[in-house]
Amino acid sequence: MGSLYQEVILDLARNPRSKGLVPSADGQSHQINPTCGDDITLQLRLQPSSDRIAAVTWDGHGCAISQASASMLVDVATGLSTPELLGRIALFREAMRSRGAIAPDEALLGDAVALQGVSRYSARVKCAMLAWVAAEGAVADLAIA
Ligand code: ZN
Repeated sequence: MGSLYQEVILDLARNPRSKGLVPSADGQSHQINPTCGDDITLQLRLQPSSDRIAAVTWDGHGCAISQASASMLVDVATGLSTPELLGRIALFREAMRSRGAIAPDEALLGDAVALQGVSRYSARVKCAMLAWVAAEGAVADLAIA
């Protein structure tokens, strides 16, 4: 992994964005990655009478990649509609499963481009994906509510 990307990951792991759960989420999902011990609960809150995401909050613990990835997701997801968010999650998954063949698009995935090196290490892909899988689960939770 490039040293600049490594720095982005370590900085976000030390200084997480929007960490801490709220009592009034519209959708929530808890996901674990038992092979690494990562654990993330992610919440979505919508703008009033809209499918646009007003806020993403989360809590959890685990390796630097899993924790940094959650903060990256916060920045990508906030302000998107839920279909747009599902589209971004699909793009991120495609890049993560490409074994380095597909570079994530920075315009669409923001700081998550720093995780592109992770896709060459299949054991770490689940770490990088965990928050994004939780976001998918939180969108599904919205639909049920
Ligand atoms: Zn991990």
